[in-house]
Amino acid sequence: MRRGYTVLVSKEAPERNRQPLVVGTAAELAAAIEERLVAAASSGSGATLGLVPTMGALHSGHESLVATAREQNDVLVVSIFVNELQFNDTADFKRYPRTLDADVEILARAGADIVFAPPVHEIYPGGRPLVKLDSGELGSKFEGASRPGHFDGMLAVVAKLLHLAMAPASCPVPVKYRAYFGQKDAQQLVLINRLVKDLNYPVDVCSVPIIRTADGLALSSRNQFLTPEQAEAALVIYRTMDMIKGRAENHEPLFMDDVVELFDREPLVELDYFELVDPDTLVELAFNCRETPFTGEGLLLVAAQVGNVRLIDNMPLGY
Ligand code: AMP
Repeated sequence: MRRGYTVLVSKEAPERNRQPLVVGTAAELAAAIEERLVAAASSGSGATLGLVPTMGALHSGHESLVATAREQNDVLVVSIFVNELQFNDTADFKRYPRTLDADVEILARAGADIVFAPPVHEIYPGGRPLVKLDSGELGSKFEGASRPGHFDGMLAVVAKLLHLAMAPASCPVPVKYRAYFGQKDAQQLVLINRLVKDLNYPVDVCSVPIIRTADGLALSSRNQFLTPEQAEAALVIYRTMDMIKGRAENHEPLFMDDVVELFDREPLVELDYFELVDPDTLVELAFNCRETPFTGEGLLLVAAQVGNVRLIDNMPLGY
């Protein structure tokens, strides 16, 4: 996560403000991808394809992923699919914002070539998958502990999207694939890196930093359900992470007691977890640096419930 990605400049400046091609089927997507790749590789060389998977209701966080992918690739595909399999709460799935027209407008301005917005039966033609991906121990802690099945469902859809956003076998162009995910969902990112490694996907996983409001709230499609008072109270998440980060930067001991006290002072915010973990494996690093200075590297992982909105956030320490 902390490693930077290589900036590759695409051969031609992408055309902005052009309506992307919106497709809903795997066959249409494959044909559109092949056509764009062939056009992009007219010099006889290969071409690059960037995929940005989303659930729509796009905000500046998504736009940052799209902008990075646009800069680095010849062909840019953005998928919009609200994946029921990763929702452990039916009410949350039903009220999840669906704003396809506005999303397509944003993606036109961002220079996306293809928007893949499939119906459910296109992604799950056999209904709920019989053969499943298991996110294992890593997928059952932190977010997985509060949202059973969430990461298995996420892996199911990402595994499919990575396949579907590949050129058909008939494509004459050698292709380099990249897929873009936000550091906002740190546990998801670690699991996707494992998915790609464990199942030998020929895809580079690229991570993009968290986009926040000016006062520190990480952008999320669900933030629109927060009242102004709840959004204000939720800033305790950023404040406490930043406080710990300050201690880490000063190589001070990382005591936690005041974090809990600060959350206790915000009755609208119910803290679920506030953990320091290894950034690559998400194994908990005990706050064993209570008395000794913190010198290593770590990632703070936080989740809290605010009204009926679950907020997650994270912040790297020591790098
Ligand atoms: P979602 O539509 O919530 O599934 O998110 C799609 C992608 O956008 C995921 O890779 C998220 O990690 C990423 N993302 C969501 N919010 C942010 C944010 N505030 N900053 C950066 N990336 C984000």
